Amino acid sequence: MDYRSLADRYGTPLYIYDFDYMASQYNALKGAFEGKKSLIAFALKANSNLSVIAHFAALGAGADCVSFGEIKRALIAGVPKYKIIFSGVGKRDDEILGALKEDILFINVESEAELMRVEAIAKELGKPARISIRINPEIDAKTHPYISTGLREHKFGVDQESAKKLYIHAKNSPFLEPIGAHFHIGSQLTELEPIKQAAQKVAELVRSLVALEIDLKFFDVGGGIGVVYKNEKTIDLKEYASAIFGAIKDLDLTIVCEIGRFLVANAGRFLTKVLYEKDTGKKRFVVVDGAMNDLIRPALYNAYHAVEAIGCEGETSLCDIVGPICESSDFFAKNVALPPTKHNDLLLVNTAGAYGFVLSSNYNTRRRSAEIAIQNGVDRLIRERETYEDIFASELKLLETTR
Ligand SMILES: *Cc1c(COP(=O)(O)O)cnc(C)c1O
Repeated sequence: MDYRSLADRYGTPLYIYDFDYMASQYNALKGAFEGKKSLIAFALKANSNLSVIAHFAALGAGADCVSFGEIKRALIAGVPKYKIIFSGVGKRDDEILGALKEDILFINVESEAELMRVEAIAKELGKPARISIRINPEIDAKTHPYISTGLREHKFGVDQESAKKLYIHAKNSPFLEPIGAHFHIGSQLTELEPIKQAAQKVAELVRSLVALEIDLKFFDVGGGIGVVYKNEKTIDLKEYASAIFGAIKDLDLTIVCEIGRFLVANAGRFLTKVLYEKDTGKKRFVVVDGAMNDLIRPALYNAYHAVEAIGCEGETSLCDIVGPICESSDFFAKNVALPPTKHNDLLLVNTAGAYGFVLSSNYNTRRRSAEIAIQNGVDRLIRERETYEDIFASELKLLETTR
């Protein structure tokens, strides 16, 4: 890859996505579920660029959305409404109404209070809402505490006993149609066992519902399959699929897998330019033009991203790679070995395709970066670099009322 040419043509900082890698990840996961009905719903929150969503939609993927904004993105990008799911612990009335009007596949409900809101809104609209209930299986996913979601101390889902009551309520309501069961115990999971246990618990609940003549159609296993940032072991897809097949072997269910990071993380790289080096006597710093507003994972989760200095030679020494923002948490890597770099050299931050651009902001009035796709060896722009006019637009028209 000629990163110099990409930097010259598109500028830096720049997100670069390998669309062929995304497709191969999608096909590997879809292939693992072969022999059973399945829907791979891309979790848009991991990377919601419209061209990325459209790419997955063309491969047959659905969309897992956590806001009405994401539902809009999915529809604009060409995801059929019957492949769209709406998840999340706090949905506004207008979002629920929007989802029902768009007639999406189902809403994942996370509490009794939410079920009542969905029912009331469906009643107003005069048509039943298809729902699935997120069950909190009370299983420790053994991942970073900020992205772990399957324990009772977490805000997500309802316990199994409460879920059963909600299903019974839904069955008896003319405005609710219970069609699925859902769990999602966390993100960046590297162990299969917790997922397997969760699947078995939720399948047990589904079985107990059959006796009550509540016949679910979808078994939504969430997402969370981990990827390699550094040297993590990962979950084998065949074993993953067979753990789920095993849990529901006697049930006729379509598997829904809401997957984000696995599809896009290692398809993405973040390209940034060296501004200068400085040495404080205590430490060597490489200051780059990207910052925590572009890629916040190191600051937010102390996440590791491998960094390569492109075309730099010489003896390596330890350094911190930092951005220009006025925060000590503004770093991409700490204590990593890098050769000497000079003004305009390029650094590549790896595994940046998931929870990268989507978490970016205008902090320090920095323009959000451009994004490009590489497909069949051809690069193309899929998001223009933000302009200062874009940033000021929603304030400028109001400035006169202040002056
Ligand atoms: C975030 C999230 C996902 C996707 O998680 P990944 O780790 O990116 O696969 C799926 N389902 C729900 C409910 C989520 O909140």
